[in-house]
Amino acid sequence: MEGERIWFNTSQAGDHAGRHPVTVRRALEAGELHGGQPKTGGRWRIHRDCLDAWVLGTSCPHAALKSA
Ligand SMILES: [Zn+2]
Repeated sequence: MEGERIWFNTSQAGDHAGRHPVTVRRALEAGELHGGQPKTGGRWRIHRDCLDAWVLGTSCPHAALKSA
């Protein structure tokens, strides 16, 4: 195990998900993957739960709450 990482950037998320970082960023921009971008045009931050949900093709708990 490489540790208990909670927050990922696009590069780390791609590593974790087995996807290309560009694919991760496109998913973020398309709203398929839930993430936060503190600054416009800045680095994305993705929570582990959101990333796992994306890998599994399900909605993360936060997105489920938002759609209510
Ligand atoms: Zn989420």
